Amino acid sequence: MARIVMKFGGTSVADLDRIRNVANRVKREVDAGNEVAVVVSAMSGVTNQLVKWCQDLSPLHDAREYDTVVATGEQVTIGLLAIALQTIGVDARSWQGWQVPIVTDGAHGKARVERIEGATLIERMRQGQVPVIAGFQGVEPVRNRVTTLGRGGSDLSAVAVAAAVKADRCDIYTDVDGIYTTDPRIVPRARKLERISYEEMLELASVGAKVLQTRSVELAMKQRVRVQVLSSFSEAPGSLVVDEDEIVEQPVVSGIAYSRDDAKVTLRRVPDRPGIAAGVFGAMSAANVNVDMIVQNIGADGTTDMTFTVGKADLARAKDTLERARGELGFEAILADPEVAKISVVGVGMRSHAGVANTMFRALSEKGINIQVISTSEIKVSVLIAAEYTELAVRALHTAYGLDGPAA
Ligand code: ADP
Ligand code: ASP
Ligand code: MG
Repeated sequence: MARIVMKFGGTSVADLDRIRNVANRVKREVDAGNEVAVVVSAMSGVTNQLVKWCQDLSPLHDAREYDTVVATGEQVTIGLLAIALQTIGVDARSWQGWQVPIVTDGAHGKARVERIEGATLIERMRQGQVPVIAGFQGVEPVRNRVTTLGRGGSDLSAVAVAAAVKADRCDIYTDVDGIYTTDPRIVPRARKLERISYEEMLELASVGAKVLQTRSVELAMKQRVRVQVLSSFSEAPGSLVVDEDEIVEQPVVSGIAYSRDDAKVTLRRVPDRPGIAAGVFGAMSAANVNVDMIVQNIGADGTTDMTFTVGKADLARAKDTLERARGELGFEAILADPEVAKISVVGVGMRSHAGVANTMFRALSEKGINIQVISTSEIKVSVLIAAEYTELAVRALHTAYGLDGPAA
């Protein structure tokens, strides 16, 4: 007997037939003698619609009311799944975030989980009841408001619940049957990884592989939660996220990710003197804009060009902030380009192998793809390229690093 948290994403609960399918999968685990808690997302597309309604009413809406609206998608699916379970004879009850409670801080729209009351859930599971818990949402106790954990946050809810109830496993059911060497939707020859290390999965998620939300991997790594990714629609074995030493053969590059969520900002002819970088990035940080990649050229005439990337959603705020600091910073122009993609190769093997970045640069140059910005970390190399070449670049790199599986 094991204690399992099962999480089902939006496509897995997209309509009533799929909710019935989920109920049957849960029943199977219950019938096998396991204690089960379930975490679900909203039906696919619903959260996007809710977000859009808030934005259409007011781009600068109250973040607390945004959370009130976008958290509703999950309330529907927990109720429906509880009914579907009861219909097939499984004792189940729905739990919203505040009922558990899943206590978060007050950073509305991207709240952090602070504490989950696990005792009651454990007691219910021991009595044979299946708690069906709303993903993505929590409660901020000071003002007693509903919060949400950021897009894709149901993965985080599942891992946090798994840690709180001391689950043996956290199974993340989605629309692909595991973690692949890259997004299988754009590279048909992507290969499924039987195992991947927490560290590599964390890095892949943080550079765009949305199969698991970044913070969920971070928490799983910290709390030692055994996470498995598998399909709601097939019986294929999934992928396990594990400690590095549980992986026998470690390739230099394990995976490739892409993100179209960034925009490039260039400041033309910035005075080349001490304090300018502090001025530019200090202003970004004060405006709550995250900066990712940065390059600065050597200037010949006492000025330099400075290029960096910000989240696309923050581009307007970044430009506005820089425009207001123009007098103090003294640059000539701001150029903004949202049509860029960040392509990253990730692998712990990079620590001990040279030439990894060079393979990347060569493969891209052979396809005539221009690299605009480069950044590296211990186990990752990222480049910024024109968005139109995203698929071409990912496929070329997948081949260059020897990751291709047999043709589909
Ligand atoms: P859910 O709604 O179940 O949370 P998501 O859409 O958030 O599902 O995540 C699953 C998607 O992640 C897949 O459909 C796939 O397109 C994408 N994906 C990106 N990179 C990878 C990867 N390396 N392995 C598997 N899936 C990936
Ligand atoms: N429904 C939320 C979203 O679409 C949370 C999730 O699916 O993980 O972002
Ligand atoms: Mg997801």
